[in-house]
Order: sequence, then structure tokens, then C-alpha cells
Amino acid sequence: MLLPLTAPDRLAVRFPGLSLTHGEVRAAARAVADRVAGRTRVAVWATPSPETVLAVVGCLAAGVPVVPLNPKTGSRELAHILADSAPELLLHAPGDTPPVDLPKHAVDVSARVEGDPLPEPDGEAVAFVVYTSGTTGPPKGVLLPRRAIASNLDALAEIWAWTADDVVAHALPLFHVHGLIVGVLGPLRRGGAVRHLGRFASAAVGEAFRDGATVLFGVPTMYHRLGLDCAEDAELADAVGKARLLVSGSAALPATDHARITATTGQRVVERYGMTETLMNCGVRADGERRPGTVGPALPGVEVRLADEADGMGEIEVRGPNLFLGYLNRPDATEAAFVDGWFRTGDMAVVDPDGSYRIVGRRATDLIKSGGYKIGAGEIENALLEHPGVAEVAVTGEPDDDLGERIVAWVVADGDRPSADELADHVAGLLAPHKRPRVVRFLDSLPRNEMGKVTKRALHG
Ligand code: ATP
Ligand code: MG
Repeated sequence: MLLPLTAPDRLAVRFPGLSLTHGEVRAAARAVADRVAGRTRVAVWATPSPETVLAVVGCLAAGVPVVPLNPKTGSRELAHILADSAPELLLHAPGDTPPVDLPKHAVDVSARVEGDPLPEPDGEAVAFVVYTSGTTGPPKGVLLPRRAIASNLDALAEIWAWTADDVVAHALPLFHVHGLIVGVLGPLRRGGAVRHLGRFASAAVGEAFRDGATVLFGVPTMYHRLGLDCAEDAELADAVGKARLLVSGSAALPATDHARITATTGQRVVERYGMTETLMNCGVRADGERRPGTVGPALPGVEVRLADEADGMGEIEVRGPNLFLGYLNRPDATEAAFVDGWFRTGDMAVVDPDGSYRIVGRRATDLIKSGGYKIGAGEIENALLEHPGVAEVAVTGEPDDDLGERIVAWVVADGDRPSADELADHVAGLLAPHKRPRVVRFLDSLPRNEMGKVTKRALHG
């Protein structure tokens, strides 16, 4: 079974204001399942709420594919996703009024239906249509089968020694793989609990750890905030220091943030690497060596290789039970994404001698071809972050008559703006002369999506 929910009295889900046991989740989800049975596809207005969890678990119990919707999606993108996925019904929390022209049903957390579990659908049946973050183009609907979820959650359990005794705290959105599948279905499948903080605040993280949470899932922007706050607040740092495991993913964790968390709390954050299409591919083990910048080796059961290797750098390709079935309504994109059964991630990496991968960045936006060199944006970003005048940075390439592409640094200054020459010399001194940014542009903030990922295509307009 994807979600056994067999320990009725154990805590399963805790949101600010409401907790549910595994038995309560099972019975309330069964009420949802009875409501949605037989539909081809059902959308969920995925606010960070218990109703979202029950809606999703109910659809999974009924074997109905779920389309999680980001409630903050703009009208054009929402219209695209609804037209693309064609759900028959929208589930939402009673207080919400989604601006969606579909039959709606408000999930009632107090409705309970007891009964034998419904028959478990086949492993190849579609569990979710999850839309990608849209970092590099319009979001694509990813068809995720149940076996991908089950196998991936078990592989993560193995590397992180994740058990029913773990309480996973997080404040991630519930319409992407990270927060919903790893962050909610993961704890439920283990027989443990998820404590959703509603919205991210360092104080709420500290309180969760003082109160029984064992693991934190976050994106780099959260660890950035947490590190800064721990530097100011010894009690917070102490609480975070008691965690069993801090996990970061969805984007690269800058080395400066990794170091700040370690300096303030004694914890070394574990990184994992994944994407909507593949769920998680690599992860640092709980008992493994936690080196900044590495996302660990391939997960158990997952095959990872580097294609088109040059200077040790190649595009990550993946094969295994974690893979999606294809993009919804996009046979062209599906076809282009595979080569001989291997999924081409579009991410570039190098591999350390111990088999741990280091993500260099995306082939499309993070690989700069300048003066005959292939240069990863990430290492330049990390180097610039070590400069005291740099608070945030994104590095891109833009066309250059001489060099092919020139390196551009988009910088949010920390206090007074450093000069472009000073930043270029800083990078040349740490890395190599050909990696110096030729152009520095200052901004008040970087464009980011709701996962905190910098949307580099927005930088070049
Ligand atoms: P779209 O596919 O619509 O452009 P997206 O790729 O950002 O959006 P997701 O599937 O949510 O959508 O994100 C997966 C991507 O996030 C990966 O391909 C990778 O580039 C990045 N990523 C995830 N984890 C890490 C990590 N630990 N380090 C570096 N990058 C990461
Ligand atoms: Mg992608």
C-alpha cells in the first residue's frame, strides 16, 4: 500500500490549530474518497492546510489522479493548467473561494467514514499530475505513477534512517514534489508525522524542535534565514542544534549558508537533488560525509550517469523506478526528454571520487561558454557570496562578440555597493581569471519563484 495508515492513535499531521492521528486521516480521507470515486482527475486547491492533506490522501485512496494547484498562481497560468489537466472537480478548504470555474467540494476535516480500505490501484496508475516550477519555461504537467512515489520514499527512508518515530517539520508549499510528496506522503508512509508550520518563520522552527520535531525539510532561502536568525538568537540555535537531520533541496544550498548553519548550530545540512519528473535522484546519507556543495550519491535503486562528459562535467541522466510516465499532452517534450530509456535532467554535474555528485547548474541557464571554457554559474555565485558586500547573487551568460558569452553577475548588495572591479578581482583570486564577471548589475532583489529559486530567464527580460 502506498499509505498504510495502520497506527490509528499515532500523530500523523499537525498544522497550526489542528492535529490528526493516522486513524483520523484515514477515516476523513475515506470520506473524500467516497466523494471523488470514479472521477478521471481531481484538482486540489493546495493551501498549506489539513484539508489539502485529506483531499490528496482521499484521492489516492480512491485511485483518482490529483492535480495540486498553487493558490497563488496568476490567472493566465492557472487557466493554462486547468485547460491542460481538465479536472472534473476541485477540492478546497471551507474558507477558500478559488476563482475557478469547476464543480467544487469543500473538504470537511470532521467528516469520517470507517470501512475496509479500498482496493489498492496498480503501481503504474497515475497518482498525480504535478506541474513543474516553471523556472525555465511554462510549467509542464508531470504524470507520476504510484510506484515512483513508493519506491522513492523508501529509498529516502533508507538513506536517512527515517522511521515512524520521526516528526518532520517544514513550511513548504503543498503543490510541488518537495513539500507534498516527500514532506507529507513521506511521513505518512513511514507511519510517522509531519508538522507543517503554515508559513516559514525561524521561531516556528525552533518551537517545533523544542516540541518533538526531529527533521527539517527546507529550501535554501529558508536555511539562509535560519542561519542569520541563529546567529542572533542562541536559544534558537540551541533548539536547531538538537535536530536529528536538516535537509535542503529544490535548489543549490550556497556554501556560505551551509557554513553559517554549522557555525551557529553545529548541524551540517544534508542536501538532496531531485525534480518533479524523477522525484529524488541523489541524497547525502544521514551517516554519510556532509560536504558543502555535494548532493550525495544516487539513491538506492536509482541509476545516475553523466552524459557528454567534458572536463569531468556532464548532463545528469537518470533511470529507475522513480521516473515519471511522461508529460501530460506533451508527447514531443516527453520524447525529447528520454534517450534509450534514460531521462535527461538538463542539469550539469561533476562527480567526486566517492560517487557523490556536485550540481553545476542547469544546462540551459547555468552553463556559460566563454572564451573556449565551459563555466558553471554556481561556483562563481558561491565565490561572490564570500564577498562581504554581496547579499545575494545570480550569475548568467550573455552574448559577447569576443568571448561567445560573457559572465554577468546580478548582485544584491549587503550595505554599500562594492565596485565591479573589486568583485571581479575577488572571483579571479579565488577561482581563475577567466571566471571573473565582465559585467556587474546591481538589483534590489532577485526574481524568485515560490520555492525561492531564482528565475534567471526573468533577469534578461
Ligand atoms: P521547470 O522544469 O518548469 O523549468 P524546475 O525545473 O525548477 O522548473 P522542479 O522540477 O520543481 O522544476 O525543479 C527541479 C530542478 O531543481 C532540478 O532540475 C534542479 O535544477 C534543481 N534542484 C533541485 N534540487 C537541487 C539541489 N540540491 N541542488 C541544485 N539544484 C537543485
Ligand atoms: Mg525542470
